[in-house]
Amino acid sequence: MPWGTLLADGETVERYRAQVLQRGPDDCWWWLGAITDTGHGSFRAGSHTTQTSRVVPAHLFGYRLAHGADALAGGLVVRHRCDHGACQNPGHWLPGTRGDNNRDAAARRRLAGHALTDVRGAAGRARAVQAAIAAADPERLDEAIAAALAAGNPSGAYQDSIF
Ligand SMILES: [Zn+2]
Repeated sequence: MPWGTLLADGETVERYRAQVLQRGPDDCWWWLGAITDTGHGSFRAGSHTTQTSRVVPAHLFGYRLAHGADALAGGLVVRHRCDHGACQNPGHWLPGTRGDNNRDAAARRRLAGHALTDVRGAAGRARAVQAAIAAADPERLDEAIAAALAAGNPSGAYQDSIF
């Protein structure tokens, strides 16, 4: 994967940023583009004209944009402290191993109302948030997002947990 080439392509970087709903420093920054079945953002980086076009996980592009092309060398993964795979807030990302990631998920899946217990699944939740953002009055975006998140946990309150 020629990450250096993709990250140096101003048009690609601009398209990535245009698909991120940037909010406050502690908020999730929702991906507005395609969502995979695992609930992660999907981004077409590069261009057909330079034959560099390829689809990459949005957060892996964003992580390298923030920390450099070699930031995940050695097989590290990006963990979402907020458990929203579509989130693009660099402050919500931590590098780690697959083992770290699996242990975190197993522990937090038991928390009532947690994102990982969402009845819609990660992809359903991410798409519901996107739909809420698209339909929301811009003045009431926070409420619309909060309602969309809460809707996946019919048993009670939505619990945000940044680790
Ligand atoms: Zn987040």
